[in-house]
Amino acid sequence: MRLLLILAALFLTMPAAAQDAPEWTLVIHGGAGTIERDRITPEQDSAIRAALTQALETGSAILDEGGSALDAVEATLRVLEDDPHFNAGRGAVFTWQGTIEHDASIMDGATRDAGAVTGTSNTRHPITLARRVMDSSPHVFLSGEGADQFSREQGLEQAENSWFETGYRRGQWEEFRQRTEAGEELGALDVEFKYGTVGAVAMDREGHMAAATSTGGMTGKRWGRIGDSPVIGAGTYADDRACAVSATGDGEYFIRAGVAQEICTRIRYRFREAIEEAQASVPVDEEGVPTYVVHASEFDLPDEDIQQIADEVIADQESLGGTGGVIVTTPWGNRIYSFDTPGMYRGMAAEGEEPSVAIYGDE
Ligand code: ASP
Repeated sequence: MRLLLILAALFLTMPAAAQDAPEWTLVIHGGAGTIERDRITPEQDSAIRAALTQALETGSAILDEGGSALDAVEATLRVLEDDPHFNAGRGAVFTWQGTIEHDASIMDGATRDAGAVTGTSNTRHPITLARRVMDSSPHVFLSGEGADQFSREQGLEQAENSWFETGYRRGQWEEFRQRTEAGEELGALDVEFKYGTVGAVAMDREGHMAAATSTGGMTGKRWGRIGDSPVIGAGTYADDRACAVSATGDGEYFIRAGVAQEICTRIRYRFREAIEEAQASVPVDEEGVPTYVVHASEFDLPDEDIQQIADEVIADQESLGGTGGVIVTTPWGNRIYSFDTPGMYRGMAAEGEEPSVAIYGDE
């Protein structure tokens, strides 16, 4: 019976997969946290939705015209880095010292090339600097003054550190310092003071995947603290065989759980198992030779499998003590959000579909 069911499922899903998968996909986030209706004014709500929509439109236009997933995720994040509502680029959170230090990373699923920067102070678009590290340096990860120096040598647009400041983040920083100095245990982990990290994942018309993440990190960070966002495998991962992931949340836990790579690895193995299972259920002829060879290109994984894997990995980091979320897309066109916070700024688009944006968990 089980064999018959698997066979039926196999033959029903295979043509459907080939026909229904969108030619390109784009999923974005603008941070996860205690994002609830009574904490966000109607003006903030509509400004954030407008910014997410604009970012989606920017990336979608590139993908629709046949541009690469890498170009799309970079361009999408440049829009969000410039928008002061997000904790990235302009509008990033303050360090303990009252400065702004950016982290960013990008990964190409086709080659598994990657670029990342941490603690940059003067590069207007940290995501573009991460891309340059990938494309134009022999390295993957640059930090601090060295990263800014490389940025200048590459001729990337520079900005005074104060250009990135907003009054809103300055206010958070002042409150954070006062409360910490008054003995409250906020640490670097208080979720109220940092949400707004941005991320994008995409699949292009060639079937290539890319992921990118950009952030100011956590309010009041000190001692050169680095979160998950610029750490390849934790905050960002892309692999054409499985998925592209960008994370947001309590970076310490996302690093420890290796969230982004863990999701891709589990998807890769789930896909392999599904093919092996399908192949094993194909009837054999009188000589014991299977009557049909299952090809990976004819097969996909359902949304439920991808959702389950992402939810399990988010639950794993939660079991260590963290909170946050991820966006995931796959080479089969799945698009997934998973988060354990009340809300996550997010949006998705795909070829031939109406784009959508959302903020609260119940949307
Ligand atoms: N993950 C970021 C960090 O830990 C912060 C965030 O996503 O809100 O630096």
